[in-house]
Amino acid sequence: MNLSFKNRIALHYMIATAIIMAVIFSAVFFVVQETMYQNIDNDLTFEASKHSGEIQIIDNAIHFINKKEWEEMEHREIQINPVFIQIIDTLGKVMDKSPNLKSDVLPFKNSEKYSTHFNTYLKDKAIRQIQKPIQSNGETKGYLLAAMSLEPSMMVLIKLRNVLIISFSLMLSVLYFISRYLAGRSIIPVKNITETTNHITKNNLNERVELPFYKDELYDLSFGINKLLKRIEDAIERERQFTSDASHELRTPLSSLRGTLEVLIRKPRTQEEYESKIKYGLSEIDRMSQTLEQLLLLARLNSTSKIINNNEDISLPILIEEILSRNNNEILSKNLSVELKSETSENVVVPKYHANLILDNIINNAIKYSKKNTQIHISITNPKNNIICIIKDEGIGIKNDDIPYLFNHFFRSDALEHKHIYGNGLGLSIAQKSAEAINAKIYVESSINSGSIFTIKF
Ligand code: ADP
Repeated sequence: MNLSFKNRIALHYMIATAIIMAVIFSAVFFVVQETMYQNIDNDLTFEASKHSGEIQIIDNAIHFINKKEWEEMEHREIQINPVFIQIIDTLGKVMDKSPNLKSDVLPFKNSEKYSTHFNTYLKDKAIRQIQKPIQSNGETKGYLLAAMSLEPSMMVLIKLRNVLIISFSLMLSVLYFISRYLAGRSIIPVKNITETTNHITKNNLNERVELPFYKDELYDLSFGINKLLKRIEDAIERERQFTSDASHELRTPLSSLRGTLEVLIRKPRTQEEYESKIKYGLSEIDRMSQTLEQLLLLARLNSTSKIINNNEDISLPILIEEILSRNNNEILSKNLSVELKSETSENVVVPKYHANLILDNIINNAIKYSKKNTQIHISITNPKNNIICIIKDEGIGIKNDDIPYLFNHFFRSDALEHKHIYGNGLGLSIAQKSAEAINAKIYVESSINSGSIFTIKF
């Protein structure tokens, strides 16, 4: 059955209430019924005992003593308490009976236990009856039957049952509509969420779900959805920024290349001029392909699944030596003294693919931003099962205010201050993404003009 959430809540609520009400109403009904039977049974027991003492047995005949007096009394009592009394012998023959029975005879039930109460019929009318044996000298001479009409009690019980059934159905229907209404009201925030999320597209991502008044689970849900929307909005904004930065980064060398070629073609040049312009053009092409490669790498790092296959381990000192030897020319040309100190006796290993991307970019920067004739210290420690690698240079340093932005795509600190140092601001983004992939952390300390310290905790 395809019920709406509102109707389902109302239905569940109604079923639960129906069960509780059915139990309570049945209990009320049975308590009333039992109380009525108990009252009638007390009266019957009393009447049966009273009349048992008012009989006389002569030979095998059993009769009431002072029948006349008893008749008058009974006659009076009949208006308020119609107790039927009847005496039968052991063969079931009626010996005597109360005048209110007239021609009727109370049925003798051999199957019923003596002195217990049971329901039966007297001329199709419901009665409650008790049967007491009449004994003389230890011998059963007959039975005294006492009965009372159940009609008035039955009427009360039937009325009570009808009232309970009608009020049960009425209450349930009213309850269904009330709980449907209340459920409808309480899911208004859910409707708001559906409406808002339905008409949010990437052009109006700044819209938010209205927060409910009460701080309940629905408030948390709306709040959570708003936070999610904010994250999506930020991610899309970052993506947009990234695309525009990336195209800018590629367009600049392209237009510079075009400009150079246009100038070159205008008139004949000397061999040296051609060579120098073509070399410049080639270096611009190299820059573009480097940027393109880094962009592709970033894209690959964002889709984690492809990288995991690449992750074999490598000894950290070996990896650093490999990176240093790849940069040997630059080290020599700047006359840098690089010191690699491993302060651990253990052979510390790191995931090769990601560790290489992290250290390659950070060591490259340390070399690139170092001043000539300075030192670079690289140390490896292994405290409390952590692998820590510190790369310290004596380079140009980074402004304190810029440190939080270092890992943003295309961010370059004070690029105009060091135009001669080429960079595109993607290296540390790649390092950071790689660190995230292997749960490593990168910390930066730096002071302008005196150097930087990059700490990597693997
Ligand atoms: P880039 O290609 O510009 O070097 P990175 O993402 O590797 O890009 O670094 C971002 C910026 O951080 C650099 O432009 C530079 O301003 C600063 N930076 C990074 N490492 C160092 C360092 N060791 N010394 C000084 N500045 C650094």
